[in-house]
Amino acid sequence: SDKLLEVKDLRTSFFTHLGEVKAIRGISFDVEKGESIGIVGESGSGKSVTSLSIMKLLLYPGKIVGGEILFNGEDLVNKTNKDMMAIRGNEIAMIFQDPMTSLNPVYTIGDQIAEAIIKHQKLSRKEAHERALEMLKLVNIPDPEKRIHNFPHEFSGGMRQRAMIAIALSCQPQLLIADEPTTALDVTIQAQILDLMKSLNAKLDTSTMLITHDLGVVADVCSRVVVMYGGLIMEKGSIRDIYYEPRHPYTMGLLKSIPKVASDEKQRLIPIPGTPPDLLNPPTGCPFYARCEYAMRICNTQQPPYFKSEDGKHESMCWLLHPDAPINEKYELLKG
Ligand code: SF4
Ligand code: MG
Repeated sequence: SDKLLEVKDLRTSFFTHLGEVKAIRGISFDVEKGESIGIVGESGSGKSVTSLSIMKLLLYPGKIVGGEILFNGEDLVNKTNKDMMAIRGNEIAMIFQDPMTSLNPVYTIGDQIAEAIIKHQKLSRKEAHERALEMLKLVNIPDPEKRIHNFPHEFSGGMRQRAMIAIALSCQPQLLIADEPTTALDVTIQAQILDLMKSLNAKLDTSTMLITHDLGVVADVCSRVVVMYGGLIMEKGSIRDIYYEPRHPYTMGLLKSIPKVASDEKQRLIPIPGTPPDLLNPPTGCPFYARCEYAMRICNTQQPPYFKSEDGKHESMCWLLHPDAPINEKYELLKG
């Protein structure tokens, strides 16, 4: 099949002293080979827990409690830590928001890329350094022959993130998970990093999972989007579906909070009022109920099923799409 990753009804909980926090409550999505997919949601939506579950990097008291994570058809849920160590960095690589915490301050950038290569590939130190230089060129680090000997503090924030991408891609992973890779960067640098990710994706045939709170950043990089809230997927579809024909009120709210002019950092965003649900006692109905301006009585008690578009590729978890739902004119207008 052309599916690289298939997440099926994944459930992940944190067993705290207060009780079970159900961070992911049954999510399903897939990533095709060479495809870039965006996972979007506010903090607490479960998007980072999703990536940590896939990498099997959940820390105690976190635990996958149900579902499957098929990577090339093999379920990662039952893999041992030893199996996962062979997969992590090699077949699935990850980059995070703050490259300074992932880079070691006492080693040069070149040594750190070479180290990542030697860990997974049988190359000599000299070959690994040559490859490290190629990687720095690939991620457009200026003057790479000189820069390879620099320490992380000698790199700017954007260059550090490029170095992290170089490390992540050095072993030619099939899947790159990028968790808020540009959030700490200013808007211009953010655009450059996203451009880089996009061109690398086209060049290397690596699938990408871009995790972000900002629906604005996925449009340029991804072909499909998964919108998460309260540990569930609210809506998923193509970029077109999500941006031009959103059907879920939460997605509509996220779209309203994207700044219109990308270069204007100071422009005030319109956040969705209210706070995400308490996942220690998750709502029985729609997780967005408390914040939804279209909420109906059923929304408070029954979790909506997914309503699909005709081609089945655009799915939305909202009662408004039920054929018997009362017509809400404002919603119909926004639905596009
Ligand atoms: Fe709003 Fe109800 Fe739809 Fe949830 S199911 S998003 S509460 S209308
Ligand atoms: Mg996060």
